[in-house]
Amino acid sequence: MAETEQRIDPDQYRVHPGGPVFLKKWSTNTTDGFEGEKSQAPELLARLNARLADLQQMLYAQAQHKMLIVLQGMDTSGKDGTIKHVFHTVNPLGVKVANFKRPNEVELAHDYLWRIHEHTPRNGRMVIWNRSHYEDVLVVRVHDLVPEKVWRRRFEHIRGFEQMLADEGTVVVKLFLHISKDEQKRRLQERLENPAKHWKFEHGDVSERAHWDAYTEAYEEAIAETATDKAPWYIIPSDRKWYRNLVVSQLLIDKLEALDMDYPDPIDGIDKIKLTD
Ligand code: AMP
Ligand code: MG
Repeated sequence: MAETEQRIDPDQYRVHPGGPVFLKKWSTNTTDGFEGEKSQAPELLARLNARLADLQQMLYAQAQHKMLIVLQGMDTSGKDGTIKHVFHTVNPLGVKVANFKRPNEVELAHDYLWRIHEHTPRNGRMVIWNRSHYEDVLVVRVHDLVPEKVWRRRFEHIRGFEQMLADEGTVVVKLFLHISKDEQKRRLQERLENPAKHWKFEHGDVSERAHWDAYTEAYEEAIAETATDKAPWYIIPSDRKWYRNLVVSQLLIDKLEALDMDYPDPIDGIDKIKLTD
């Protein structure tokens, strides 16, 4: 890294399995452990982007590991922005984004994991879930779309599902982009005032904001119930977009570096092959 040798430690944002989660205790706007200024963030992000691209190239070439990144957060928490800023240098050949919107009729006629499972990564690939099966214990709970008995037993299914993915070789990383209610107001206001952002505004954004506390409670329980060693949750301080991007980038780099990858061996006799014309 450059002269300043700044390093963010994303592990400080990991949720330790077994305890309750109180989102109020997790900062939304800290830049903890990062001595730099916002002005240095673009340069650092560029370096992290380049490193992530290198690692992803190796993941793709080696085709032995796979990574799933689950992105969750309140409306306006920055899921789309994170995808744009963290992944823009990565080769699109090896990365896919799956967006989970309101389920359609066919999806609703199946179990809730049916539409999810087909979007898991294959060897060599990274897949980002922009919302996920967690909506089935969040929005579904807040809006009473199914009885409590039904959503509550899903925590166990989800733990089992993610454990299975991890056991079968998927690196699972779950990110909760944590913003304050005030920051959401600023971002919604911006969507109302900036014509270039009008397209992002939906009526639902105002009505959903009224359920902030219910979503907070739902997230706290969902995260606590499903934070495991193999499929950990990270609560990313996300009021400052630049810091959020740095933390997420560094976290994914750390996860990929831990795989200790290498390029595959070349084919036999590659050094003797001559191109004749
Ligand atoms: P957005 O991410 O802003 O494009 O919005 C997608 C919408 O789809 C959100 O309001 C989600 O709560 C909703 N959604 C996603 N998955 C589900 C689900 N399983 N059940 C109900 N609504 C969902
Ligand atoms: Mg939206």
